[in-house]
Amino acid sequence: MEQADGIREKLPQFLPGLLEEQYGAALAETIIQGFSVRRRVTLRANTLKTSIDEVRTALNAAGILFRAVPWYPDALILEDADENAVRALPLYDEGKIYLQSLSSMLPPLVLEPRPGADILDMAAAPGGKTTQMAALSNNRAHITACEMNPIRAKRLQYNIEKQGASCVYLMQKDARTLDDFFAFDQILLDAPCSGSGVLDLRDERLLASFTRKLIDKSVKAQRALLKKAIRLLKKGQEMVYSTCSVLACENEDIIASALSGGGVELIPIASDRWQELPLLPVQLEGTLCVAPDELFEGFFLAKLRAI
Ligand code: SAM
Repeated sequence: MEQADGIREKLPQFLPGLLEEQYGAALAETIIQGFSVRRRVTLRANTLKTSIDEVRTALNAAGILFRAVPWYPDALILEDADENAVRALPLYDEGKIYLQSLSSMLPPLVLEPRPGADILDMAAAPGGKTTQMAALSNNRAHITACEMNPIRAKRLQYNIEKQGASCVYLMQKDARTLDDFFAFDQILLDAPCSGSGVLDLRDERLLASFTRKLIDKSVKAQRALLKKAIRLLKKGQEMVYSTCSVLACENEDIIASALSGGGVELIPIASDRWQELPLLPVQLEGTLCVAPDELFEGFFLAKLRAI
């Protein structure tokens, strides 16, 4: 772990102040330290093609040490192997495993995709959560995966095919312009965000790319996408909003403004289901915000029901 001063030098100047304003000095320091730790590689067994037991056996044979995730039997934490060691495994080529951060596995688990449900994944590429939802429903949900960026949509298509997620229909489109004629039983809005929970201090472009302008642009997109999601969600049905940001302006503020607009209510997410989750205080009770550390990326989740 780096010294605090060394880490701060690599961060955009305005960020520590913003974090201190929201979380206080001590927690802001914890978050900043979290940016510098080497995160363990984590993966999900793709139960459409394999079982967690087969994955365990293959990792053992390859001499890769791992441990279980208490709240998700399909996930594993690798003790010291890097992503390249995983990519070299036949299991990886065969689409039997998906490299995915633990935080990123949370939204599909909170949404609980139902077999037979019409599900919209509004911002889907590269497809970690799309394919996880397909696996959780055993390919029996009807998932529309929407992605605006054509290059990312190609990656999404590749992952859908590789993972055998045959219940997914890909739509390359700006989700803000989806026709209100559509109606969904469940929606995941894993919104585009500043990425303030997953800052990579080794990225030489970090100072240029992580700007106040990026945050403002993300907030604007998040508001518009959530407004559309609420219009497309059937009455009485549920959606999950998530970001890999720890900034309230992209998280609680977006949810609070949707709640004040009417048409949705907040469904509290039980925090005791997720052992070992390094939770941050939230400004809206019932939402979850995760601090970056050696296991988790900084992340936010809220669950809403259309009323
Ligand atoms: N859910 C993805 C996963 O688990 O692999 C990660 C999604 S990433 C946070 C956000 C994605 O939303 C990006 O691929 C971005 O190109 C896409 N996006 C941004 N604005 C969009 C829009 N208006 N409509 C559809 N997709 C959008």
